[in-house]
Amino acid sequence: MLKNKSALVTGSTSGIGLGIARALAQAGAKVMLNGLGEPAAIERTRRELAEATGSDVRFHSADLTRPDEVAALIAATEAAFGGVDILVNNAGIQFVAPVDEFPAAKWDAIQDIVLNASFHAIHAALPGMKRRNWGRIINLVSAHGLVASPFKSAYVAAKHGLVGLTKTVALEVAETNITCNAICPGYVRTPLIEGQIEAQAKAHNLPHDRVIREVILAAQPTKRFIEIDEVAALALFLCGEQARSITGTALPIDGGWTAR
Ligand code: NAD
Repeated sequence: MLKNKSALVTGSTSGIGLGIARALAQAGAKVMLNGLGEPAAIERTRRELAEATGSDVRFHSADLTRPDEVAALIAATEAAFGGVDILVNNAGIQFVAPVDEFPAAKWDAIQDIVLNASFHAIHAALPGMKRRNWGRIINLVSAHGLVASPFKSAYVAAKHGLVGLTKTVALEVAETNITCNAICPGYVRTPLIEGQIEAQAKAHNLPHDRVIREVILAAQPTKRFIEIDEVAALALFLCGEQARSITGTALPIDGGWTAR
């Protein structure tokens, strides 16, 4: 389905990004991985993905808090594969605190990684997509791009901003074969969420299973985590020709959370 296409997935050394990278590589796309982590472990992941899928899988270590490194990441992907046909802005971090106690440096880091890096990546990748008159931009947002929760001011603000960027880009390129969409998952069990389970268990002095049901999944009516594969399948669908008229959307995959 994606033979002759190339994809860049930011934050794909772990979690949802890695799942999306796997789905795209399985569909035949050449894939550039990106993210933080221990170099030997990343190289193992890269090699396993390349061997399992038969696709050209590479890695770039850009730190997305740095605009120059985001530009270098796009340039390196274009040099390696001849273009960025599919851009998945997936990297994200979380920090939880009341707004009046929220550390300014954490606020900045979340805006930089979630919102600013997505702008810089789209800014750099879009000219090539326009030249080739084909592109798919997928921004990994969250149910928190549509509704808020207390203590997540930076994350909720950045994710709402990313929905706005998604809509604007979609309108600007609407008459081309480029689409831009946001995927808005509820809770998916990844290292990002494991950290929150751990922190809440300590804060409330509760066992993990009660934290999961009573705290983490309290807002998610299905009371089960969304699987990484489900998010990856939606991303893959958005890359196909049958999704060419889906643009400017913020698609929830949230077990009914935002239906309330
Ligand atoms: P994760 O922690 O497993 O993965 C995050 C990835 O981002 C990692 O590869 C990490 O190395 C990378 N990253 C972090 N800071 C970076 C930086 N400065 N430069 C480059 N890469 C950086 O988290 P995840 O749960 O897979 O989250 C992926 C995306 O999905 C995030 O945008 C997150 O907000 C979003 N999301 C997650 C959930 C969930 O429940 N897990 C729900 C909704 C949305």
